[in-house]
Amino acid sequence: MPYDVTRLSTALLNDHADTTPQDFLADALDRIAHVAMVSSFGADSAVLLHMIAQIDRALPVLFIDTLALFPETVRYQKDLAAHLGLSNVVTLSPDREELFLTDPDGLLHRSDTESCCQLRKARPLARALQGYDGWITGRKRHQAATRADLARVEVEPETGRIRLNPLADWGSERIRAYLDEAELPRHPLVARGYPSIGCQPCTTRVISGEDERSGRWRGTEKTECGIHFIGKGIARAGQEDAA
Ligand code: SF4
Repeated sequence: MPYDVTRLSTALLNDHADTTPQDFLADALDRIAHVAMVSSFGADSAVLLHMIAQIDRALPVLFIDTLALFPETVRYQKDLAAHLGLSNVVTLSPDREELFLTDPDGLLHRSDTESCCQLRKARPLARALQGYDGWITGRKRHQAATRADLARVEVEPETGRIRLNPLADWGSERIRAYLDEAELPRHPLVARGYPSIGCQPCTTRVISGEDERSGRWRGTEKTECGIHFIGKGIARAGQEDAA
């Protein structure tokens, strides 16, 4: 990368302590050469995709098709991309040979969710991110205890890639208000009791009063699919120790 990643990420963090996600994104895309957005086209994804579409419709949007998604997600991905005029959605899939060798019957998720997520999500994304200087995620602090101190800007110590989390401090109310104001199409499963949507075998409905991610890997300790561990321990901007 032709610039000092630590200085750049710290500058972005300082310059955007209280700016809007749109201003933050526009400036970050200006300053970082090769950036992709990673989107699951899930329950909240339309917000960030709409912001991106207003800045650059040709920005690469990476969509991981694990081959275990709800059919509704696959349809929604196409419909939403068309609605927003996104012209550069790249679908990532697990490596066929690896899939054949490791999960030939498609049941790995029953015995080993970590290996399954690595095979179907993390490794395809890690391969696709090679060559990018940064990526945009839709993660938010309110979603899980593991995200409680999520910063707007992070650096992956192993790769030097910058992660941009423009909606880190947005809560559910703000997300819903934006979806309403921009009249964005909703993922059809939200109305059917799925406030957080991943792969079909690992996502269940959520009942009133439950945490919105409680339907993911229900009954297990697992809370994250692993794609956010790419590049290993995350250094927050301004920190030298990746810890
Ligand atoms: Fe496999 Fe479930 Fe992870 Fe999807 S969410 S990759 S089915 S373990």
